[in-house]
Amino acid sequence: MKIILDHLTKKFVSIHNKKEIVTAVNDFNFEIPDGVLIGLLGPSGCGKSTTLNLICGLENPTEGRIFFGENDITDLPPESRGVGMVFQNYALYPHMSVKANIMFPLENLKGDKKLSKAEIEERALKAAKVVEIDELMERKPSELSGGQQQRVAIARALVKTPNVLLLDEPLSNLDARLRLQTREQIRRIQKETKITTVFVTHDQEEAMSISDLIVVMNKGVLQQMGKPQEVYNNPKNLFVAKFLGTPAINVFDGKIKDGYLYIGENKIRKAQADDQDVYVAIRPEGFIVSEKGVLECEFDRVETTGRDTSIISHNPNCISDDDIRTIVDADEKIIVNDNKIRFDLKDHKTYIFSKTDEKVMNV
Ligand code: ATP
Repeated sequence: MKIILDHLTKKFVSIHNKKEIVTAVNDFNFEIPDGVLIGLLGPSGCGKSTTLNLICGLENPTEGRIFFGENDITDLPPESRGVGMVFQNYALYPHMSVKANIMFPLENLKGDKKLSKAEIEERALKAAKVVEIDELMERKPSELSGGQQQRVAIARALVKTPNVLLLDEPLSNLDARLRLQTREQIRRIQKETKITTVFVTHDQEEAMSISDLIVVMNKGVLQQMGKPQEVYNNPKNLFVAKFLGTPAINVFDGKIKDGYLYIGENKIRKAQADDQDVYVAIRPEGFIVSEKGVLECEFDRVETTGRDTSIISHNPNCISDDDIRTIVDADEKIIVNDNKIRFDLKDHKTYIFSKTDEKVMNV
């Protein structure tokens, strides 16, 4: 089922101060194709949960419409939208078995949707099999690991065969190992069921690793939507460039003068644009150690973590962090002269952003 958000806006009026209006979602206008897993990504308070709540009907939009396929569902109550929701805190009934938890949403169906006991049991077992907890049906939630509990919550959302699955930070309560495992299971379940899934997270690595498409948001405004690698490779603005990638992108104050890009006194490359101050952002993997490299930095140290070798250096024009972090091949020769290290920069890993609107400048 494709989802269309048509100029969707949600404003909240503060309870304490009626004049204070928060625009949690500001004119969202995009389409989520049928059968994909889409990651909604952004810092805390950027409007991710509000977007989910609008899609499932827990909130009403201030403006705009929502379509599932060709149907305008904006005015439908949540229970009529065919949406499955999974939250961060599994929200299972502690006194009920896994089986009873999964069966619960089917037990109150009315009219022609009413199911027999045998049908309910069959559908619960099918959903449990999809998330691989069918062996644990008689246990209580307290007898399960966090990852297993989250899978019960997913089974409970799947049991009504929803058109759309909404997952709000479903992995936040899990430790690092379980997080990794569970996110792979979510990916598998989504691929198997082909249910259009919206996955909310503030963790960019998580979103990048499992999503077909990501939507990067900031302060209620959509910043960029696309395939994870495309957005990473071609950020439209400085916010997106900084938000995606670990270690984070290195940002420098730079300038364009007489057709060349400079960082401090270092002439980096040609850049055909009017003379102006700019931001230069370089991915950690965009540096190549070179004795005659274009950018000179103060060498600090080398760090080896797992497979990666990082060179930590400094430059007075770097504004993102005290440390410039570059990732190089373990066998790359690190040349340091007088405590100075020089780098050439990979063009496709170096971005120039306007200082006026922070948008990328393709120059
Ligand atoms: P987090 O990652 O911290 O959960 P989020 O991206 O999901 O954040 P939302 O919960 O959607 O963000 O909130 C977006 C903005 O709307 C925030 O500034 C929040 O304070 C505000 N907001 C959310 N719900 C309400 C409400 N009921 N009344 C007033 N303001 C609200």
